[in-house]
Amino acid sequence: MVIERDRERMIRDIEAGIAMTASHTGREHFADRVMAAMRAVPREEFVPADMRHAAFRDGALPVGHGQTISQPYIVALMTDLLDLDGDETVLEIGTGTGYQAAILAQLARRVYSVERIPELAASARERVGRLGYDNIEIRCDDGYAGWPEHAPYDAIAVTAAAPRIPEALVEQLKPGGRLVLPLGRRGGHQELVLVTRDQNGKIERRSVLGVAFVPLVESA
Ligand code: SAH
Repeated sequence: MVIERDRERMIRDIEAGIAMTASHTGREHFADRVMAAMRAVPREEFVPADMRHAAFRDGALPVGHGQTISQPYIVALMTDLLDLDGDETVLEIGTGTGYQAAILAQLARRVYSVERIPELAASARERVGRLGYDNIEIRCDDGYAGWPEHAPYDAIAVTAAAPRIPEALVEQLKPGGRLVLPLGRRGGHQELVLVTRDQNGKIERRSVLGVAFVPLVESA
């Protein structure tokens, strides 16, 4: 099948990306279950119909409203950095198409995802429901505030670039929890940063890789 072949090419591209960036990320391999999730989630269902031919290319793709679905390698990297075992409650900021949420939902118990654009939140909700992901909940709101009702979270992924680490997200992270987010301005230098909170609440941050994300928009 054509899709099968394209999907395997995507996996090989991700593996090439892992090898190329290992000296920055400190990870020579990603967890088998992360790679299994990348194979399992039908990426072609998350891109606009006229973009299906390009769904498995290792790049970001436009999905309307000036937004993009992230490059497969970056989705895999962010997921791998969260070290999910299967029992976690995860928060995602920036639902977009719901693709990253679906990957996280394969690997954790429950995923809460926040999207500020109502049309994207609605279509992502419809899509993940249709595909049978019943452990994802999507809310339309400003992600800078996180989602306090379901906090604290074992892991948080932000899929849009913020100029600084949103305070609310650190507050909603469990001791021992992990937060991964791109930091920086639109068009300027952005870095993927891993923030960990230890059992005493002490915060540490490590810069992982230079990246390019759409901005995490601040409400006026
Ligand atoms: N994770 C998505 C891609 C994210 S693109 C996927 O897998 O498809 C970044 C998304 O963040 C966009 O949909 C954008 O609308 C959203 N976003 C930007 N600023 C936001 C904010 N303040 N709160 C919530 N979502 C925001």
